[in-house]
Amino acid sequence: MFNSAWEREHVWHPYAAIPNPNPVYQVTSASGVYLTLDGGQQVIDGMSSWWSAIHGYNVPELNQAIEKQLKDMAHVMFGGLTHQPAMDLAKTLIDITPSNLQHVFFADSGSVAVETALKMALQYWQGRNNDKKTKFLSFTHAYHGDTFGAMSVCDPENSMHHLYKGLLPTHIFVPPNIQDLRTAFAEHHQELAAMVVEPIVQGAGGMLFYDAEVLAEIRSLCEEYNVLLIADEIATGFGRTGKLFACEHADITPDILCLGKALTGGYMTLAAVLTDPKISQGIQKQGDILMHGPTFMANPLACAVAKASIDLLLASDWQKRIQNIETLLKQGLLPCLSSDKVADIRVMGAIGVVEMKEAMDIPIIQADLIEQGVWLRPFGKLLYTMPSFVIENNQLDQITTAMLHCTQTEV
Ligand SMILES: *Cc1c(COP(=O)(O)O)cnc(C)c1O
Repeated sequence: MFNSAWEREHVWHPYAAIPNPNPVYQVTSASGVYLTLDGGQQVIDGMSSWWSAIHGYNVPELNQAIEKQLKDMAHVMFGGLTHQPAMDLAKTLIDITPSNLQHVFFADSGSVAVETALKMALQYWQGRNNDKKTKFLSFTHAYHGDTFGAMSVCDPENSMHHLYKGLLPTHIFVPPNIQDLRTAFAEHHQELAAMVVEPIVQGAGGMLFYDAEVLAEIRSLCEEYNVLLIADEIATGFGRTGKLFACEHADITPDILCLGKALTGGYMTLAAVLTDPKISQGIQKQGDILMHGPTFMANPLACAVAKASIDLLLASDWQKRIQNIETLLKQGLLPCLSSDKVADIRVMGAIGVVEMKEAMDIPIIQADLIEQGVWLRPFGKLLYTMPSFVIENNQLDQITTAMLHCTQTEV
């Protein structure tokens, strides 16, 4: 019998060490908003599996979509072949995103979507015979993934940059405010291929929010200075911030849009890059083709469940639900401010963040949360929840109560 002691010696976890990893909890099943742990304890999942399981777990409609597709085929290569699940999903994505985004590239993870988007932008300028535009502008505290290209547009101070010093391409970083943005565009526009942004909410780089006016300003600066705009909505897409896509807060349209995480309702790994025809045409100007093609591109099971997830979301009263979650998170987290260990609380849509003054002892906090029947994965100074949209009021209350408890005890 393989047990957790064996596991700890052999199986790598995200951002972890071997040997001597932090403790992990074994999950035996998941249903609705509950994870069942080895031993039978049920905990409310306040993370929705890294923000992706927006409908909760074991969702009949999503199970059915996969089972139905499985009978036809689990996978076929996408080079030279196509299939209905990819066509149906592409059509849906084109329908629900801004009208200028007409072309869809299916990638197999968010990081790969970002890589593809960066390559598209670079190839676009190559197609125009511009060999100067090879840099990207992104925000301090940006997070865009863990692969090399994606890492290079993550905040250099707050990410893995230091581990790969001298090995990553160097790009340009700016804090999310209008003044600094104007200066950066004026100074660097000639070398800028694109600006890459997480619209409105910066996720893994610090769970920070910035104003819609900043995003609107970026759009107009990109226009003014002839720089492409890549919106990375891998974390924010599909309702998380209260809008279907966070770009809608500023009523802007990117040239390239990356989607992932909640795209499949948390069932399978899949991401998508949508582009304006000017990008695809630009790439082809010198007769070039887009040089990317993952083995599992447009996996039919993933496409089928993504389509079902989007249908389910759009058929639900998601706006009302997320508004209700936002209201309850604000109410529930407000009392955290009375703790002198808390620096800030912030809530947007179905995102609730408590920022502590000091970094937390994660294993201790996590054990305390589990005892209170809640699964969260805090990092650094950030204790946060991004629950699934189907969470009930009393379940959400249990999460915020557990978070409040963490701010008030000696953990
Ligand atoms: C999670 C995330 C990524 C990376 O996606 P993976 O599927 O983990 O590779 C990229 N950008 C943002 C904004 C993310 O939140």
